[in-house]
Amino acid sequence: MKASEVRVRFAPSPTGYLHIGGARTAVFNYLFARKHGGKFLLRIEDTDLARSGQDMVQAILDGLTWLGLSWDEPPVYQSSRFPIYRARAAELVEKGRAYRCYCTREELERERQEARQRGEGYRYSGRCRHLTAEQRAAYEREGRKPVIRFAVEPGVTRFYDHVHGEVEINNAQLDDFVLLRSDGVPTYHLAVVVDDHEMGITHVIRGDDHLSNTPKQVLLYEAFGWPKPEFAHVPLILGPDRKRLSKRHGATSVGEYASKGYLPEAVVNFIALLGWSPGDDREIMTLDEMIQAFDLSGISKASAIFDEAKLEWMNGVYISSYDLAKLAEKALPFFAREFGWDEEEAKRQRPYVEKVVGLLKFRVKKLGDFPVVGRYFFTDPDGFEAEGVRKHFVDADVPQWLELLAAELERCEPFEAGVIERTLRDLAQRLGIKAAQLIHPSRLAVTGRTGGPGLFELFAVLGKGVVVRRLRRAAELVRSGAVPEAELAQ
Ligand code: GLU
Repeated sequence: MKASEVRVRFAPSPTGYLHIGGARTAVFNYLFARKHGGKFLLRIEDTDLARSGQDMVQAILDGLTWLGLSWDEPPVYQSSRFPIYRARAAELVEKGRAYRCYCTREELERERQEARQRGEGYRYSGRCRHLTAEQRAAYEREGRKPVIRFAVEPGVTRFYDHVHGEVEINNAQLDDFVLLRSDGVPTYHLAVVVDDHEMGITHVIRGDDHLSNTPKQVLLYEAFGWPKPEFAHVPLILGPDRKRLSKRHGATSVGEYASKGYLPEAVVNFIALLGWSPGDDREIMTLDEMIQAFDLSGISKASAIFDEAKLEWMNGVYISSYDLAKLAEKALPFFAREFGWDEEEAKRQRPYVEKVVGLLKFRVKKLGDFPVVGRYFFTDPDGFEAEGVRKHFVDADVPQWLELLAAELERCEPFEAGVIERTLRDLAQRLGIKAAQLIHPSRLAVTGRTGGPGLFELFAVLGKGVVVRRLRRAAELVRSGAVPEAELAQ
């Protein structure tokens, strides 16, 4: 570890999946580390053994991997470090900066009740701070198991926060907080300070729900005689209704965004702008651009608003400019799910899917939209957009035009966009009608829709057999006056 090296960490508690707030903290830490050529580390804060699970840890690691946020050293698991925390707590007792407290739950509850009756906020009285050796021994004989509390001395605690500026708190507002529980499990404050110190963390970038915890941690650094890291507490993320982001606002875990068909690059870009701005009005930024521009001074104090419509828009922009082969690869599972393909079938469809995706990429917002918007690339339309039927299937000549077009296209060789276009325009001219009078009904006939990608490219991808068959089928339906109508999702 170089003395000047920037080292930051993302320290999730694995009591849930990787949610948007956590992912945002991870993104900020990652960008900061990369910007400074430093290290992005991971610490799993699994001291709460009952509530932490390996499946949650895995989901968090998978979420980070999906986002492309690679960590630089093996993750540190707090659950494997209990002896270290116990030794550090003992060290503070030794130094007279912490003490064993034997108060029982009932005694503390009584103190709390009394404070309430006096109309005062509760703080631990510090009763056990000055126990004599005999009193301690007596409690031990009673079988009481002590906690270790930090002895907060009078004074003022100050630190600088890169987002909130100078923060100052009178120590009288802090009580003698617990470092080690009676079962030997460390509290968050002890573990976080010991670990940040031992991992050589230079900057603590985390949610501002931890701002109020920081004075206690600063006191711990001072008591241990360790240098403090720098702090940056990033603002809360709220839903569009300005309430704390929750399930009500849609998906909250990164995994859900993956399965809804968002691209990781778009999610990272979107998340990076939740509470940070590059200082100009850029929104779509590559990872490298974000790394270059990232600075703690660009983090806002104001809460960030999570607007899924914006994420959708951004995802659409990413989809339309994505490498086509990669896009097809990512879209393939969504097609497979929609059409029930097994692995072998998906592999067989892969080249065709790439062509379909190439045509539709400007028309979708999420990967999951591809098989919906492009259903007609795989099955004959079973209904025709009602609005289109009223507009394009009314002329009495339509069935004949569609049949003539089918006959012309059948002779088309090669069946490519340029040739198809020439064939259609020549036919329109011979019929003495506008090309649009052929284009609109034939699009509706072949796709069931009024809108879509360029008609000639679309025909070329569908292939001659399918196009000719669908034109003839539609001609028959129109002639018989029995066109099935459909309300289509756009
Ligand atoms: N484990 C804490 C949390 O998930 C993070 C604490 C920290 O970053 O210091 O909120």
